[in-house]
Amino acid sequence: MSEPRPRASVHGFPRIGARRELKSAVEGFWRDEVGIEALRATGRRIRHDTWAAMAAAGVDLVPCNDFSFYDHVLDTAVLMGAVPARYRGVTGDLAAYFAMGRGGRGQAGEPDLGPMAMTKWFDTNYHFIVPELGPDTHFDLGGSKPFDELAEVRGVAVSVKPVLLGPVSFLLLARPEPGMDRFDPLSLLDDLLEVYAQVLARLAEGGAAWVQLDEPAFAADRSPGELAGLQRACSRLGGLSHRPPLVVSTYFGHPGDALGVIADSPVEGVGVDLVAGPEGLALLEAAGPALADKAVFAGVVDGRNVWANDLRRSLELLRRVADLADVVVSTSCSLLHVPVSLANEERLDEGLRARLAFATEKLGEVGVLARALEEGPDVSADVPSGRHPARGGSAPASSGTTGTAPDGAWVRPPVEQRRQVQQDALGLPLLPTTTIGSFPQTAELRAARADLASGRIRPADYQARMRAEIDAVIDLQERVGLDVLVHGEPERNDMVQYFAEQLGGFAVTESGWVQSYGTRCVRPPIIHADVWRQDPMTVEWWRLASSLTRRPVKAMLTGPVTMVLWSFPRADQPIGDTARLVALALRAELADLERAGAVIVQVDEPAFREGLPLRAADRPGYLAWAVDSFRTATGGARAATQVHTHMCYSDFAGILDAVAALDADVVSFEAARSSMELLVSLEGSGLASGIGPGIYDVHSPRVPSVEELVALLGPATEAVGAARLWVNPDCGLKTRTYAEVEPALVHMVEAARIVRARLAEHEG
Ligand code: GLN
Ligand code: ZN
Repeated sequence: MSEPRPRASVHGFPRIGARRELKSAVEGFWRDEVGIEALRATGRRIRHDTWAAMAAAGVDLVPCNDFSFYDHVLDTAVLMGAVPARYRGVTGDLAAYFAMGRGGRGQAGEPDLGPMAMTKWFDTNYHFIVPELGPDTHFDLGGSKPFDELAEVRGVAVSVKPVLLGPVSFLLLARPEPGMDRFDPLSLLDDLLEVYAQVLARLAEGGAAWVQLDEPAFAADRSPGELAGLQRACSRLGGLSHRPPLVVSTYFGHPGDALGVIADSPVEGVGVDLVAGPEGLALLEAAGPALADKAVFAGVVDGRNVWANDLRRSLELLRRVADLADVVVSTSCSLLHVPVSLANEERLDEGLRARLAFATEKLGEVGVLARALEEGPDVSADVPSGRHPARGGSAPASSGTTGTAPDGAWVRPPVEQRRQVQQDALGLPLLPTTTIGSFPQTAELRAARADLASGRIRPADYQARMRAEIDAVIDLQERVGLDVLVHGEPERNDMVQYFAEQLGGFAVTESGWVQSYGTRCVRPPIIHADVWRQDPMTVEWWRLASSLTRRPVKAMLTGPVTMVLWSFPRADQPIGDTARLVALALRAELADLERAGAVIVQVDEPAFREGLPLRAADRPGYLAWAVDSFRTATGGARAATQVHTHMCYSDFAGILDAVAALDADVVSFEAARSSMELLVSLEGSGLASGIGPGIYDVHSPRVPSVEELVALLGPATEAVGAARLWVNPDCGLKTRTYAEVEPALVHMVEAARIVRARLAEHEG
């Protein structure tokens, strides 16, 4: 190779486009309003813009195949020929692909298929499509996406690095196909490696300068058998004679024992995330001579947060790595997890903007660092260090929320004792029925919000519109006969953003979209200073709802753990300290709700489980701050105030003690699809609160029948006891329509009545 060796690399870039062009194109394609050629052209345009931005920033090793129309794990399954049998008959361009991702059919008349399972990508907020594998899975090269993108980028960039999800992580992320629970996908490794070998040969022919094999699964604890799988993969693929140089990259934490495995193998490069896993440096040092002839792709530019890089510190780190091996300056992981560009933000405070770097700005950081490293100490003295990446400001002294606790108790009386007090005050029937908070976010509600934002309607009109909605939602709940009502959250665009817009210390972006799954994007707020509550945030809406009914209305807050995990948090202090400030703001809100008369308050923590660190050693530290901040938010509640929490997950094995330590009065879980497993794990746990295992799956438009709901409530009553059981859907109803919600709730209430009557019979 006569080309100069690349010095600057990124793992991948957001693929939604600076203005979410991909979302519009893909959704238009689904609606038959955008043709396949136009869709593909949009993809090409986004890729081309990305590559051009990289070249301009001095990134001299440019990724390809990081683009996706839906999800890169799904792309990998398709490339490897691992398409489940039920989708193979779907005809039409990309039709099977999208059917796997989101359900659907090919031509009219073909069966309507449900989507494949989707779950969180490690500890991020991105969701991937879970590959389904079984003993009969036969891998076979099933597409040409990486080859096509490689051909497309030539001419734009000199050195190109196709990115592939690595074979071991692919298998570790997969699930056995339905009915094959004991099947171990890793047993397919050798077959899979043969297809990877073919892919590498074709990428070599196509002129790839490097190939990046992503093995993020090795940032989590791995068994000896799994490490042996990595060893087999690296030696098989590294031993191929016809292939480009390979960099095996781990991220989202340090690689632990996997580093030695990669270092001792014939691959040419090792990628480490020195941001999420600073321990990686010591691991590199320990690997010693094994690295001497390798390139280390040193991930020093954070792909998970939005703060400008501390270039001087990064440069010091890079120099230490350069003493051990050849260095390629890199991002810590794909930039998929940050917004595309600051250029589209017009309303951000200038001081804050100067401290930020979104994906495009991060390209510049990678380029600058690579040049500084190359040019040596003299030049690098000029590297700007005046930016203080994440220095937090302080809340106004009068806010009373900076660090010092407000008056009031931190430890409530024991939960059993509270149950009695609350029962006497609330007088709820056995098996009380309720919902998780939101009611359908209708097109009219979204239009009202858009009208308000664009100035087409006045705030007063908007408020009137919301009041009418709350009125209707209360009315519906009374008609249906629910016991504990909610106001329906019509005024909330998003459960985090709604609070972020009102709290001091948070900034919201205009176009800071980040892909969550498929075409779904979120706009995480930025926590840039001490968080403080300026004014009550929810009290008036609650008061209004409560004035419309004699039944109790549950007030709804988003908990501190979820607020920080679904935002970009400060990087200059431990995340637990930030969560504590959020918690103090919520504590004050809760106290105001109590003063207004609320006797039931739900503090949602849907992110509680997903925040659990990948490595067991890091979990106690996480659970400590997570539990502490929840208790800071709720520990001041009166004994008579019933504190609920809601969690979006059903797999709580191993953390039920932490859930119990939250000391909530009622916990509802997302469990409709796996209620039995949850109930089994609840038995024998220290959790003494009321329990609401979701019995109706809000993620499906299906209306459950009374019979099936009764059938779920039976075992639930057995498992937790009738005195503690609540009856509710498994999550908020915001994504459903009223046509689905009303009959489902009617059935739910009816099912509760039937089971109550049975219980009374047994008593009598
Ligand atoms: N209260 C929220 C709602 O009902 C909870 C959402 C969630 O769990 N993600 O929408
Ligand atoms: Zn939920």
